Amino acid sequence: GKTDGKGQFRFFEASQSRLIQSRLQLKHRLIEAIELDQFVLYYQPRVDARTGRVCSMEALLRWIHPQHGLVSPLEFIPLAETSGLILRIGEMVMEKACRQIDAWRRQGLPVVPVSINVSPKQFARGEVHRQLAVHLARHGIPPSLLEVEITESAMMGEQAEVLAELGAIRSLGVKLHVDDFGTGYSSLSQLQKLRMDVLKVDRAFTSELGNSREGRVFFQAIVSMAHALGMVVVAEGVETGEQLTILQELGCNEVQGYYLARPLPAAAIPAVLMQGNLF
Ligand code: C2E
Ligand code: CA
Ligand code: CA
Ligand code: CA
Repeated sequence: GKTDGKGQFRFFEASQSRLIQSRLQLKHRLIEAIELDQFVLYYQPRVDARTGRVCSMEALLRWIHPQHGLVSPLEFIPLAETSGLILRIGEMVMEKACRQIDAWRRQGLPVVPVSINVSPKQFARGEVHRQLAVHLARHGIPPSLLEVEITESAMMGEQAEVLAELGAIRSLGVKLHVDDFGTGYSSLSQLQKLRMDVLKVDRAFTSELGNSREGRVFFQAIVSMAHALGMVVVAEGVETGEQLTILQELGCNEVQGYYLARPLPAAAIPAVLMQGNLF
């Protein structure tokens, strides 16, 4: 693999990527990667916007490719979804997250909840809640330590399968996050009916915060409506101190982004948990 000075993998440039040369070839390589266990989870801390306390983390998938190094999910999740491989990959993510949480608990670390991304295809199958129950039980993990992120667009249409699945997951005691909020067409009242716990506002809106009054007013409106409906608000993609300051003023609950911490390999997480605070 390719490493930079800090011993971290660099992302392979998509433009040079021979991975995307042929969809069939990529699919074949993904199957091989599953079999050879070339996937790992990185973890990006989320912190309380007021105190800087690490309150949870998002698990983000990485493919450690023997030739290309660290490959972003943006390069293979789309094909995984159209090819159906996401069903195997999705369950693998669940298993890896549970295994990791268990390992941190055994080390006596002050663990925080980990959220995993679940794709629409998995939801449509109606097996997500059962798989979650199996993996939580297998590793003896309280359901409050695992959370599920589902994109706003995946919930659109309110198909009966998705609604039933969301209800079943909630019944396990696993919290639900609306991912990429603002990029689709769902209303906050719809989301409240679905009893979503956390609203993750898409990075596009965070990046507007410093630029325009409108950007700020828009974010403010989301925060106050979400709070009125009993939801926690997370800002995604916080990249500057100015954005953090504005989000604090707006009463946004939690922040996630490069300004606080990049997605980190599992080995870097114990130090973060021990420290407990990122500002
Ligand atoms: P997402 O769920 O919206 O995840 C957030 C993405 O934003 C991550 O990209 C993260 O590294 C990146 N990010 C975090 N902070 C910042 C920031 O301050 N600035 C910028 N520019 N970016 C930031 P990543 O890890 O490349 O993942 C991309 C997408 O791939 C995710 O978007 C998610 O939709 C998907 N994905 C990742 N892991 C999984 C997985 O296990 N299962 C499924 N189904 N999808 C996954
Ligand atoms: Ca996410
Ligand atoms: Ca997101
Ligand atoms: Ca996204």
